[in-house]
Amino acid sequence: MDTRTVAVFSLGGTIAMTTDPVTGGVVPALSAHDLLAAVPALQHLDVDLRVHDFRNVPSASLGFDDLDALTEALADAFRTGCDGAVVTQGTDTIEETAYLLDLLLPGDQPVVVTGAMRNPTLPGPDGPANIHAAVIAAAAPELTGAGTVVVLGDEIHAARTVRKSHSTSPAAFTSPATGPLGRIHEGRVHLHAPLAARTTFTRPTTGAAARVGLYTATLGDDGTLLAAMAEACDGLVVAAFGVGHVPEGFVGILERAASRIPVVLASRIGNGPVLRGTYGFPGSEKDLLARGLIRAGHLDAHKARLLLHTLLRQGRTPAEITAAFATAAH
Ligand code: ASP
Repeated sequence: MDTRTVAVFSLGGTIAMTTDPVTGGVVPALSAHDLLAAVPALQHLDVDLRVHDFRNVPSASLGFDDLDALTEALADAFRTGCDGAVVTQGTDTIEETAYLLDLLLPGDQPVVVTGAMRNPTLPGPDGPANIHAAVIAAAAPELTGAGTVVVLGDEIHAARTVRKSHSTSPAAFTSPATGPLGRIHEGRVHLHAPLAARTTFTRPTTGAAARVGLYTATLGDDGTLLAAMAEACDGLVVAAFGVGHVPEGFVGILERAASRIPVVLASRIGNGPVLRGTYGFPGSEKDLLARGLIRAGHLDAHKARLLLHTLLRQGRTPAEITAAFATAAH
């Protein structure tokens, strides 16, 4: 195999944190070069790295402007010959950033997002091993056409299915519905199944902001807060109970909202689909879909919010948004 070229973009997060003398807590500080210098094994890979210090923030503070800029920079890297790319960032928002990149980068070159659960000051930090595995994955011809994947703990997860499933475990990343796409061992990518087709969208060109709310149904909620949130939104995702159920008091609020803005029905479970037509009571999935809500299908609520955000920024019509969800979230 010829030498592969991989772009590395560092965005901060625990993987890049060291102790701050003022607060005594860890804060983002290490550069992309620092991160790579901690992985001597990279020198044994036949890979040229193009290194970019892109941001240095905790991932809770990444925003759509950062992701727009990163998408553009990744597209540039691929235009100028990179075979793949690695993004290092905080793990808290990886399941969202990776999905957004997957939606907006249609090329065949893989984007591999990674981070660390244990910061560099702790015994057994996982960042160096994750970077090593991520570079192997980004350079692997087996992942050509995979879109964006998340690599931690030697597992490869599709952006569309991955979730952070534990707040501290080094094995925090899982794909609850499908399991990992594959694994990395002995320096190679091993896929468990052929890569699935994916849906991509052109990058929004308008720059128009879209405010998409995410509201979680909870026991005994009378809907007052939901009504207030819906008023402030350009689009709304409801993380409903189970297969897509809400309290009866939500029904009128959601129907009125859906006549004005797109309202997506997702599940707060995060594993398994919203159903279409099993239950028939007011506030059931069948009832809400008949009142104009859009079914999130298998897409979890956080990812449904990002898909809706992307479609709104592209100025899509309600019919186009419904069709896009049917394709991208089946
Ligand atoms: N709070 C950190 C972040 O997302 C957690 C991490 O990186 O694991 O930036």
